[in-house]
Amino acid sequence: MRLDPGAADLDFRQKARTWLAGNVPHAPAPPDGQASRAYALDWLAKLHAGGWSGLAWPEAYGGKGLTPGRLLTWYEEYVRARAPSTLDCTFVALNHAGPTLIACGTEDQKAFHLPRILEGRSIWCQGFSEPGAGSDLASLKTTGRVDGCDLVINGQKIWSSFADIADYQELLIRTEPGSKRHKGLSWVICDMSLPGITVRPIRNMAGVSHFAEVFYDDVRIPLTQVVGGLHDGWTTAMTTLGFERRTAAMALQLELSVRIEDLIARAAPAPGSAMADRLADLRAEAAAIRAMSYRTALREPATPFDGSVVRLAFAELAQRIHRAAMDVLGPDALTDGQWVHEYLESYSETIAGGTAEIQRNIIAERMLGLPREPRA
Ligand SMILES: Cc1cc2nc3c(=O)[nH]c(=O)nc-3n(C[C@H](O)[C@H](O)[C@H](O)COP(=O)(O)OP(=O)(O)OC[C@H]3O[C@@H](n4cnc5c(N)ncnc54)[C@H](O)[C@@H]3O)c2cc1C
Repeated sequence: MRLDPGAADLDFRQKARTWLAGNVPHAPAPPDGQASRAYALDWLAKLHAGGWSGLAWPEAYGGKGLTPGRLLTWYEEYVRARAPSTLDCTFVALNHAGPTLIACGTEDQKAFHLPRILEGRSIWCQGFSEPGAGSDLASLKTTGRVDGCDLVINGQKIWSSFADIADYQELLIRTEPGSKRHKGLSWVICDMSLPGITVRPIRNMAGVSHFAEVFYDDVRIPLTQVVGGLHDGWTTAMTTLGFERRTAAMALQLELSVRIEDLIARAAPAPGSAMADRLADLRAEAAAIRAMSYRTALREPATPFDGSVVRLAFAELAQRIHRAAMDVLGPDALTDGQWVHEYLESYSETIAGGTAEIQRNIIAERMLGLPREPRA
């Protein structure tokens, strides 16, 4: 693994820094709803016009084909410039729907959707989880019955982030009647404006509606919208989750270093105090996550489970940093909307994208080769 940058790397970093300095929006992102959609799409269109969208996508599909090392440099500059969070409503499309289409979609699907995603013209959401199928995704029950050239969808999804403002959904359903577990599923592109779809936003404890329940009542989706083969949706879904758990969260991991520096500046702890020790530990942990992000991105060949290690470490550290922030701010936290908002949101870090317990299971069983937990 080589970390010393050459002249071309330094030039790339300077170009990124200069562009970001002149283009990062000054107004904060609206928390949710149509205003957040307009803000995110405007920002993505600006990135695209500047030549900075789809950096990880292959050039053949309109991307820039950057190496993981260059991508890290971009995200370092991105968080340094305090650009809008990458975990906005464009996240699904750019980081896993688009890459899944590139890996498993038909040429028609790619030609229609990929330019719309890159240019900031469409929002995607993910419809995998159901009330009885979260960690155990293979127990999902929403059905898609083949009827002529269509699938007829019935059932319910939950926790679908940005479903209320999305144009399309990565929808995972059971299409083979009587099939069990991961067999007989299909991954389909669901147009969120189709008749029979009802979206009910859920407000979280931070007071924002980032996710929603989605109900499907005889929703007809053409079979041409299946991605990766009818009844073979598990393979496609694993491709999606692979993208979601690997480099997609790079910016968020790097952002922790910025947040801890903000907190240290705000706390100005007396040298040698207990708070100084605590913040120093958190700073060291953020540096370790950053090192892990580098290792995950640059290691050749990549191992499929590195993403789980970084994801777990990141999620738990994010919670510790925000708990420390509440202790630093004390009663002032009540008037500091941003830190309180992030503190409340940080509770979801060990649930979203696979819970901390599930990441530990993956690490234990698949990386360390420990005995598998009993399966029902
Ligand atoms: C902010 C946020 C955004 C989300 N966005 C989306 C989205 O866009 N699309 C989508 O489809 N889903 C989304 N989700 C849902 C997320 O994927 C699920 O919440 C997650 O997979 C856990 O599933 P569950 O909530 O059903 O909990 P459960 O699976 O019911 O788990 C409940 C508890 O049991 C534990 N547990 C379960 N199984 C095991 C096991 N085998 N070993 C040890 N412990 C276990 C879990 O760790 C957890 O603590 C989102 C969730 C959050 C918080």
